[in-house]
Amino acid sequence: MAAAYTATHDIGHWIGGRPSAGTGDASRRTQAVYNPATGAVARQVLLASRADVDAAVAAAQAAQPAWGDTPPIRRARVMNNFLALLNQHKDTLAAMITAEHGKVFTDAQGEVSRGIDIVEFACGVPQLLKGDYTDQVSTGIDNWTLRQPLGVVAGITPFNFPCMVPCWMFPVALAAGNAFILKPSERDPSPSLFMAELLQQAGLPDGVFSVVQGDKVAVDALLTHPDVKALSFVGSTPIAQYIYETGAHHGKRVQALGGAKNHMVVMPDADIEQAVDALIGAGYGSAGERCMAISVAVLVGDVADKVVPKLAERAKALKVKNGMELDAEMGPIVTKEARDRIENYIGIGVEEGAQLVVDGRGHKVAGFENGFFTGGTLFDHVTPAMRIYREEIFGPVLACVRVPDMAAALALVNAHEFGNGVACFTSDGGTAREFARRVQVGMVGINVPIPVPMAWHGFGGWKRSLFGDMHAYGEEGVRFYTKQKSVMQRWPDSIGRGAEFVMPTAK
Ligand code: NAD
Repeated sequence: MAAAYTATHDIGHWIGGRPSAGTGDASRRTQAVYNPATGAVARQVLLASRADVDAAVAAAQAAQPAWGDTPPIRRARVMNNFLALLNQHKDTLAAMITAEHGKVFTDAQGEVSRGIDIVEFACGVPQLLKGDYTDQVSTGIDNWTLRQPLGVVAGITPFNFPCMVPCWMFPVALAAGNAFILKPSERDPSPSLFMAELLQQAGLPDGVFSVVQGDKVAVDALLTHPDVKALSFVGSTPIAQYIYETGAHHGKRVQALGGAKNHMVVMPDADIEQAVDALIGAGYGSAGERCMAISVAVLVGDVADKVVPKLAERAKALKVKNGMELDAEMGPIVTKEARDRIENYIGIGVEEGAQLVVDGRGHKVAGFENGFFTGGTLFDHVTPAMRIYREEIFGPVLACVRVPDMAAALALVNAHEFGNGVACFTSDGGTAREFARRVQVGMVGINVPIPVPMAWHGFGGWKRSLFGDMHAYGEEGVRFYTKQKSVMQRWPDSIGRGAEFVMPTAK
């Protein structure tokens, strides 16, 4: 058993380099934060008012010019200090994640590690911000481009990766010279606040990074604030679309990553044992509450008859426990409402005529009877018309769809409204290549079930899984958080005499 996070104090904001309980106006609101394993309210989180958001933006606006003028290598050194602190406090962060999200501790450690990867990437910002230069575009004239920070930018993040997803955003934004305001999920707010403290210890000037806890009120205040220049969002598709449209309407740069329904295609030539391992890990890991979780197994040809019995056996044997127990394979669901929504979908699938092979509903864990647990669920003979196929369930429910061949598998994947991640298991190079080229999905795994790109490659889906032009982190992230400026220069001794009335051309 790992050491649990048990704080009971209210979780507030972080504004201007210190904890903040908000402006204290009459509309002060809070929301319960649960320990999903016990089902008990563990602490309360403050919900920011518009005035709280204004205070964070004002602090950011005041701090950003000096931070933006700080040489990139010095900003990178702050990131480097933060990197060391994150590594030092990795298990504290992981325990906070498990305490509020419910995912198993070892998975939470993995989440922190993947966040750390992006901080490491951001430490290379001097190289990433390097511009280009053309000598002598005309006689005595040179032209170059540079990238400058946008100013104050904000990030709005989902509950399912309370450390990693914020790290997709703020390390790159800060290293590029912006001030950043994070609005984390109100369901697991503690890791953000802890990271704010670590950033301060790392030497980040006060005001450059703020956290406003909250809900739609805080989000809308950020979306419409004239001093917020860009918004990064990760969450469900309806909210992503709202963020994209509203942000754009208010003149902001927006990247809004949405929901998913990720398919894993298993070809008849695949290694069946490997494919089963992959489906179990990617379907039920983190209780299916991952935007890159596999929720549909596309079983090609005669694969289904080999795979489904093995999946059933493994789904029934999953170790569903309090996530702090080190042998747990699956923890509880984040909230009771989310657990009830997932179990409701299972009922819908039965009504729609899918074959319920393993039913995870009503799963009880000894000693944690009030926890928000559900077991692993497996459906076979799911069809594209069913809601359990079309809609994102975001829980440990794996739907098997049977198709005759690769062409049908590709057509199925490509017709889905989401296009976040996809995988193909095969031992044939030609099949793999053709699949990767033809599939209409942003992130593809060949014999890799959860192909979350590494820090320097960037993360993003296609279709209704991403609204906006640029993916998160990697070089796209650097471009998102900076604007390009072109400078053309000549010096007096090379300036000819006389006004020019024609479009300048190279001379
Ligand atoms: P969510 O959309 O409910 O919430 C995301 C954020 O938006 C939170 O900070 C929340 O406070 C805020 N929010 C919620 N309702 C709002 C509203 N009406 N107006 C303004 N803001 C609002 O998502 P969630 O339940 O926290 O996270 C799960 C979802 O996130 C899933 O759909 C999952 O696929 C998606 N997700 C996607 C990715 C990706 O990279 N594409 C990654 C992680 C999670």
